[in-house]
Amino acid sequence: MKSYSIAVIGTGYVGLVSGTCFAYVGHRVVCCDVDASKIERLKRCEIPIYEPGLDKLVAEGMQQGRLRFTTDIDAAIQAADVIFIAVGTPMSQTGEANLDYVQQAARMIGTVINGYKVIVTKSTVPVGTGRLIAQWIGEASHNQYSFDIVSNPEFLREGSAVYDCLNMERTVIGADRPEAAAIIAELHEPFGTVVLKTSIESAELIKYASNCFLAMKISYINSIANLCDQLGADVDEVAQGMGLDSRIGHRFLQAGIGYGGSCFPKDTYALRHLTKEAGCSFSILEAVIDTNEQQRLIVIDKLKQSLGTLAGKRIAVLGLAFKPNTNDVRDAPSLTIIPKLLEAGAIVRAYDPVAAEEARHVLGDQVVYMPSVQDTVMYCDACLILTEWEQIVESDWEKLHSSMSRPLLIDGRNCWSAEKMAELGFEYISMGRPFVP
Ligand code: NAD
Repeated sequence: MKSYSIAVIGTGYVGLVSGTCFAYVGHRVVCCDVDASKIERLKRCEIPIYEPGLDKLVAEGMQQGRLRFTTDIDAAIQAADVIFIAVGTPMSQTGEANLDYVQQAARMIGTVINGYKVIVTKSTVPVGTGRLIAQWIGEASHNQYSFDIVSNPEFLREGSAVYDCLNMERTVIGADRPEAAAIIAELHEPFGTVVLKTSIESAELIKYASNCFLAMKISYINSIANLCDQLGADVDEVAQGMGLDSRIGHRFLQAGIGYGGSCFPKDTYALRHLTKEAGCSFSILEAVIDTNEQQRLIVIDKLKQSLGTLAGKRIAVLGLAFKPNTNDVRDAPSLTIIPKLLEAGAIVRAYDPVAAEEARHVLGDQVVYMPSVQDTVMYCDACLILTEWEQIVESDWEKLHSSMSRPLLIDGRNCWSAEKMAELGFEYISMGRPFVP
């Protein structure tokens, strides 16, 4: 295998994990960022995000001299054969992807480029961005050097990002020139992954089309769950029956309070924007977004149905991260639900194994952050489960039951069987599953 010299611009969830995995399989990687404190921590082998297995791989890569961290982005660009752009593309106020960081990265590359490079976009970007990046680099470099642009969207999932990267199901390589696509395919050879070579535009759209399709499955099953609540059917049974059809499959059919995180919400909005700009209609996507926004609020309705007014009620919230095994709270349902509880006058205590600090930055100190599940539910009038962390699901609920003022459990993630929780004496209300008295 040929070992490539790689620069990764943007050392966040994607840049850090993919850079570390490229080093693990034998490439020489420099991860760069404009955030000097992040880079300083990484140089001390402190991992700024919570991601299972990442610490070990970073330490190994650094020890073997294959993985380095720097703020000297110019030098990293000049020393690299292949440059990955993995900066954020957050949602702008109009819903479209904000390309400011991508543009900055492209301009940096153009300013210091010193020979042929393959420049790869890993960030999720709207169709047409690859061409824009080429233009920005060309403008900054006065077209002195040749380079190729490749779109190589990232499909890792936070919480299992290292596993996903080392066991990637597919790599999509969008390029104009087959020679550039071949370099990126060779770089991925050690992962033994299926390679799909496409045009740059198709690769860019594959990422949005995939994420929005998964979001659609979630909104679909959540709508079925809401129907189950009205009709007395059980969404778990319905999903199981649907999933046995191999054309449908079981995955992404878990009903709950909807999707969150740094990707699905912003990517659904970005594709909606792209669709409008292209003069097309995509009414399914509108419904996916709308359904998800409504779905978060259903736990509040369920709470009010049981408690009446929420004013002065002590509500325990378990789980703040948008999903288990991550400290990421970007667009987490908790950030919509908790302010509504506070607005209604509830007293909120919350627990998350790793995301409390991140949540505090957004929610402030009106919420009391507790160190354990036990402390959170003590004397509460109701408990809301928003993230299905193992630490929460596997708690001793028999014991916790007796410490709650009222054993009302609203399970936004369908973590337990209704029968089991009823046996333990809970008033157990979940999503789309019949109440067991
Ligand atoms: P992130 O916010 O965690 O990290 C982005 C990093 O880029 C930050 O550390 C920031 O300081 C740095 N940065 C910004 N401008 C820079 C510049 N000019 N030079 C160097 N560094 C710069 O973002 P993320 O979650 O890693 O996402 C990155 C991209 O990957 C986004 O487009 C996202 O949609 C996509 N993506 C994310 C995931 C995920 O699960 N997080 C999965 C697939 C794709």
